[in-house]
Amino acid sequence: MALAQTWSVGLAGVQGAMVEVEVDLAPGVPTVALVGLPDAVVRQSVDRVRAALLNSGHEFPLRRVTIGLSPAAMPKQGSGFDLALAVAVLASARVVPAAAVRELVLLGELGLDGSLRAVRGVLPAVLAAARAGHREVVVPEENAEEAGLVEGIAVLAAGSLRQVVAHLAGKAVLSPHVRAAAAPAPPGPDLADVVGQAAGRRAVEVAAAGGHHLFLSGPPGAGKTMLAERLPGLLPPLDEQAALEVTAIASIAGTLPPGAPLVTRPTFEAPHHSATMAALVGGGSGQIRPGALCRAHRGVLFLDEAPEFPRAVLDTLRQPLERGAVTIHRANGSATFPCRAQLVLAANPCPCASAAGDTACTCSALERRRYQSRLSGPLLDRIDLRVTLPPVTRAAWLDGLGTPESTAVVAARVRAARAVASERLAGSGLALNSQVPGRLLRERWPVPRAALALAERALERGSLSVRGFDRVVRVAWTLADLEGLAVPGADQVDEALGMRLQRAAA
Ligand SMILES: [Zn+2]
Repeated sequence: MALAQTWSVGLAGVQGAMVEVEVDLAPGVPTVALVGLPDAVVRQSVDRVRAALLNSGHEFPLRRVTIGLSPAAMPKQGSGFDLALAVAVLASARVVPAAAVRELVLLGELGLDGSLRAVRGVLPAVLAAARAGHREVVVPEENAEEAGLVEGIAVLAAGSLRQVVAHLAGKAVLSPHVRAAAAPAPPGPDLADVVGQAAGRRAVEVAAAGGHHLFLSGPPGAGKTMLAERLPGLLPPLDEQAALEVTAIASIAGTLPPGAPLVTRPTFEAPHHSATMAALVGGGSGQIRPGALCRAHRGVLFLDEAPEFPRAVLDTLRQPLERGAVTIHRANGSATFPCRAQLVLAANPCPCASAAGDTACTCSALERRRYQSRLSGPLLDRIDLRVTLPPVTRAAWLDGLGTPESTAVVAARVRAARAVASERLAGSGLALNSQVPGRLLRERWPVPRAALALAERALERGSLSVRGFDRVVRVAWTLADLEGLAVPGADQVDEALGMRLQRAAA
């Protein structure tokens, strides 16, 4: 019998799924059959494996070779199966002992010269292998740090097929990769750099404390981008579970920085308005890659010059942001990625983007209104905080020169406010004010009627929708949490109302 089995891992969205690789050699005319829903890249794998074997001093068996990938129903994508295929072929030909590879997990793409190349998605793959009870995984050297993040499984790093074969044949030993102590992530940009802009600073603090989406309007140079970039620094660091999720997404997207394997800080993604739907949401040919929206999972998605984004693109964001996940469909399967991101939109007051007061702007009032209305109502309706930033005048700039509060100081208030909210929401399955449905908010945590007077008037006048009313109350709770109040009062409701209606008033 010339049958050998070993393991590799496929990816379904951000989850790894074990794939058993079987190779059977039978007498007859030399052919190769690949079965089990492989994509075009996996099909080419046979040619790469053949060349890599020959260039590593081995023969590709001149027999009837059947390669099976199971479970058959799961689509297999990418080049990560190469190493497992090559090793299974060698095991079926008894070049390496079949028993040595039976429970082994192998990941990596082969160069034609037999070198082992890095692949994407190693972290989720190794997590899946460890969960399935495998004790040992072989990965390309460049992926070793990433693979080493997973506990409970030995990681062997190899640079070539030759090294892997020598190890399995007992002629040389691949020593297990030793996990290096993680270097602390470098600090992000600091809020102390933002001079003046009290309203903007307040807005990012409230957004961070309650997890609210934010819309910043204002002339160029008002500091919209600076403020948005400083929001991730105000969010708490990622816990272990979140860090693994975010790192797994970066690994699949191919954006994991070398030498810094674990993402421990909330990320900041700022796609340009010319970005394609695939770049923004996810897609691509072959293996489905997560887009900016998913890479911002547990972090911040910043859309600068938001009215310049095609409306269809903005509308696409709505449902995933609400659901916290996005499913991408392709002919060869679909993939679901988490995308619990906080959205920050920024817009200039007019299409010519001149600083306010600049005589060069010739936009009419109508043109300005039309520009602003390019942002879809339903998307804007989901944004709790809308703040108009004034241009930074010389006087305001000099005024603010004192000592603006640093990220550390504001982040401490955010942390305290989040702790209060999560204690109040304990048992509801929610942790942030922005997540609480309006009905639940009214039933479980009513705000005294007297405090709501101004908001109710806005509702009656029609300047506030029912949904908007709920959002004002939600923000009022965040303001109360920041102040250390047990329940929002009129001051908090009024401030929240101001942050909701500012854009309409502008
Ligand atoms: Zn203009």
